[in-house]
Amino acid sequence: MALSIVDIYQKLLPKTNCRECGFPTCLAFAGMVVSEKHPLENCPHIPPELLEPAKKELWAQYAEGKWLKKDPAESALAWAKERAASMAVEDLPGRIGGEIIETDSGPALRLPYFNEFLIIRPGTLEKADGSPLNRWEQVFVFNHLAQGGDAVPSGEWKAFQEFPNTVSKVKSMIAHVEEPLSEHFAGKREELRSAGQSVGGEDVTDQYPSADLAMKFTPLPRVPVLLIYWEADPAEAVAAKIKLLFDETVPRHLDIESILFLSERLRQLLREEEPERI
Ligand code: SF4
Repeated sequence: MALSIVDIYQKLLPKTNCRECGFPTCLAFAGMVVSEKHPLENCPHIPPELLEPAKKELWAQYAEGKWLKKDPAESALAWAKERAASMAVEDLPGRIGGEIIETDSGPALRLPYFNEFLIIRPGTLEKADGSPLNRWEQVFVFNHLAQGGDAVPSGEWKAFQEFPNTVSKVKSMIAHVEEPLSEHFAGKREELRSAGQSVGGEDVTDQYPSADLAMKFTPLPRVPVLLIYWEADPAEAVAAKIKLLFDETVPRHLDIESILFLSERLRQLLREEEPERI
């Protein structure tokens, strides 16, 4: 029989709220065990004769997904994979770029990705060096495989908010991408240039005279991103600012959420953040 939060609280825990498990109350601990697979044995006060059978019950209900908190990355990845399920690898170069190569397990697409390459087979993605992508990277790449039309970048750049249906995501782009980048690189133009070049960015400042630095990235062959950096102006009380621009064709290649995930990946790479859980 499945174990609910109340079952664990009432039948297994001593209700002393001693905090040895790292949670402020026994009830909070029970909630984490049921909804987020927190190890039951982290409460040292459960008698062994109750602990082992309870763990078996929990494994069974975890396997069914019963009462587990939904993981947004898993849901997004499942949807993206489903969208890409019908792709034919042979069709991909014409739609999104890259080249077909022969591998031990059949034909695969070798696709440029920032300053490295992805190897893409039906249902699987990996980097050319064999390392995996994190789940959010997989989400936007699978969505690109599913959606990528054959539009070639036009060179006309637009801000994120200029694309349709971005209203609910503009705040996220600012809060999760542009502001963290602006704060991190304020007063560090050369550091930004160097970080950008290390992930394949090209210095194109000469084409944008009003910017203090402009770098063009090519995370995917048909999805370029332009980063514009302005230094702070203390006389005008203006802080340093970074803005991302996207080619006008980007909606042909990625859905709005995937544009955001790709931008977050660029932020992670530039700031050399620890990779997320895979
Ligand atoms: S260690 Fe056990 S008894 Fe103490 S607060 Fe956590 S769940 Fe409750």
